[in-house]
Amino acid sequence: MKKLPVGILGATGMVGQNYIALLNNHPWFEVSYAAASPRSAGQPYEQAIDGRWHLRETYAPSVGKLTVRDAGDIAAAAAEAKAGNLAFVFSALEMDKDKIIALEDAYAAAGIPVISNASANRWTEDVPMLIAEVNPRHADIIPQQKKRRGWEHGFIAVKPNCSIQSYMTPIWALIQKDYEIKRMIVNTMQAVSGAGYPGVPSLDVLDNIVPYIGGEEEKSEREPLKILGTIEGGIIKNAAAPLISAHCNRVPVSNGHTATVSLEFGAKKPSLEEIKQIWRSFRALPQELALPMAPEVPIIVREEPNRPQPAKDRDVHKAMAVTVGRLRPCNVFDVRFVGLSHNTVRGAAGGGILNAELLKAKGYLG
Ligand code: NAP
Repeated sequence: MKKLPVGILGATGMVGQNYIALLNNHPWFEVSYAAASPRSAGQPYEQAIDGRWHLRETYAPSVGKLTVRDAGDIAAAAAEAKAGNLAFVFSALEMDKDKIIALEDAYAAAGIPVISNASANRWTEDVPMLIAEVNPRHADIIPQQKKRRGWEHGFIAVKPNCSIQSYMTPIWALIQKDYEIKRMIVNTMQAVSGAGYPGVPSLDVLDNIVPYIGGEEEKSEREPLKILGTIEGGIIKNAAAPLISAHCNRVPVSNGHTATVSLEFGAKKPSLEEIKQIWRSFRALPQELALPMAPEVPIIVREEPNRPQPAKDRDVHKAMAVTVGRLRPCNVFDVRFVGLSHNTVRGAAGGGILNAELLKAKGYLG
């Protein structure tokens, strides 16, 4: 199979680097286009990234030789797309929300589909916010989005905030089995890599916890409702439940967001053993389709009293699985547990690649 040529907008950043590393030897996609700010544009990628490559894995020599483009230069990308050298882009830009919306719209209008990690378009009503195991059905809004905007080939699909990944799939597995979740309280402990590079100053976070991440609690409380929502009249209507209260903290961990979660069910309440059984046996469309980036087992259940831990559990199944543990009764709600996922892989580039694989398998890309 001929690989699809793909671009990375924000290729020099924390998430962009993860895209480039994860796409090295990907069976379906190859990086043909790298774009960033005008500060990096015009240099070979290996030069633009010199001294600020953060990963253990390296990039393909062919990517090192790519000339970094200005992400704002839509005409350059459109010319590459027209020449067959660019099938779609992953957006990993860190800019003002309005500027990101304008740029992502411009790429889609130029016929280039955008799979985005940025939060800017998450609340656009006709843009699907996908976790491939949870709401792949939301991809079906893409034809309506294209028709409404008058876009022939381009469209926008986004992935949600990195911190909700550590509990959304476990919660969805229960909802799917008809266990209504009425209310939940979430406390996140988020890694420093979640803030990009250079991110949080070391003197703020070493030997410390910062009990505030701008905008994160609002995202954690609202995004699950869109993901659990339904397509009605060409837009995605939010689910009414669960009601969520979130506390988001930055902690001195390099990678891996951890969340402690308390759940209140509706009238029908599962036992602890039923919950574990549902989590262990959970499989979804990415596993059925054997998508290259899909974890074989999406939810790993640990029984040890002191797991999951970021340093020990974040990399399991290509860093794409969610690890849960400490499932026990809750004195206020019904049950409580700890969830963990890798923020820059499952929560960012890996999740974006899995979404692209899903969209390709559904016939929306290529
Ligand atoms: P980052 O490390 O700060 O990287 C930002 C990227 O955007 C760089 O490539 C930068 O290029 C580029 N950029 C900045 N200003 C630009 C401009 N005016 N025009 C064009 N390009 C510009 O940020 P990150 O952590 O990778 O995050 C990228 C996006 O993913 C953000 O929207 C973030 O919210 C989202 N996200 C991050 C995570 C995570 O765990 N880090 C998880 C989920 C989602 P230069 O190098 O040339 O400046």
